[in-house]
Amino acid sequence: MTDANPKEPNRSQPVKFPPHSPLRERLNQAVESYFKRDRKNKTGGIRIWIKSCAIIAWAATSWIALVFFAANWWQALLLGASLGLAVAGIGFNVQHDGGHGAFSRRKLFNRFSALMLDLVGGSSYMWNFKHNIMHHQYTNVDGVDDDLVAWPFLRLAPGQKRLWFHRFQWLYIWPLYVFFPPKWQWFDDFRTLVKGRIGAQRIPRPKGWNLTWLFVGKLLFFTWALIVPFIMHPFWHVLGIYAFVALVLGITLGTVFLLAHCVEEADIQPVPAAGRLPQSWAEHQLATTANFSPRNPILTWYLGGLNYQVEHHLFPRVSHVHYKRLAPVVRQVCADEGVPHITNPSLYRALRSHIRFLRRMGRREAA
Ligand SMILES: [Zn+2]
Repeated sequence: MTDANPKEPNRSQPVKFPPHSPLRERLNQAVESYFKRDRKNKTGGIRIWIKSCAIIAWAATSWIALVFFAANWWQALLLGASLGLAVAGIGFNVQHDGGHGAFSRRKLFNRFSALMLDLVGGSSYMWNFKHNIMHHQYTNVDGVDDDLVAWPFLRLAPGQKRLWFHRFQWLYIWPLYVFFPPKWQWFDDFRTLVKGRIGAQRIPRPKGWNLTWLFVGKLLFFTWALIVPFIMHPFWHVLGIYAFVALVLGITLGTVFLLAHCVEEADIQPVPAAGRLPQSWAEHQLATTANFSPRNPILTWYLGGLNYQVEHHLFPRVSHVHYKRLAPVVRQVCADEGVPHITNPSLYRALRSHIRFLRRMGRREAA
């Protein structure tokens, strides 16, 4: 099964942070005393169970209605959009907390919720290395954080080679999202399995149960996503709706990630020549991560608190159900210590900042 805290994978060029600063200690103290004061657990509790059941039921209902009851094209599109949003919701609210060990105090429940990713086409084993280590430890470090890798299609860091068509990336990124979920589902995990690495990072190849579950998960996913629909409907109708669901899912997942890290306010760092990053880990997370639209209760519910990515990056083992109340505590420590706590106040402002970032990365002078 997936280990929520794997050891750091071997890397050809080690990247290190300076020793921990007093800021990290103060943040830890403030958050610990918040949980002690309110006698709360850091995991999700009953709230995350109810929410998970609701979102899984939403996905299952959308799929059943789409495959067995949709009678015309507009019903199929509406139900396809609902399914794409519900699958993204499983990722944000169920799998993500489980993968970080924040869903429950019981390891078994964390593992089960993390395995939801395999049922929707990903691999919880690969995600663990790609997300928990490469992204969370080395956020926005170009060359280590694999979430910055979409080249040659997109240029997401100044150190990536600029191609002439990147100047239009702020426009074509939206339809391009249709290709991302099929790439994760059909290609990336198998490539990692064969190569034993993601980018430059060596990843231990899955064995035993991990390897079995990778294939069982893919098989279950292909069965509900394609094989059953192919039995019920014409080939091209199924492919068309599969692409539409992928577009909705890709835009939703991709945008939520990029609004936290690929905006004007967030730093992107190259791998330093000496291998040592300029800031300590907590300062680095605060400089490379942004919150958005924190006062929107619907977004906060649906995104599994991922509009509070600053709190998530500093405390990934705290369940998302706590982020809204934790944010003022973190913000106060940042204000006291004189370090930035980046927030785009609305979804519109975050999107505008993201599009400006894409335009800047696409321009010749940003090279
Ligand atoms: Zn995370």
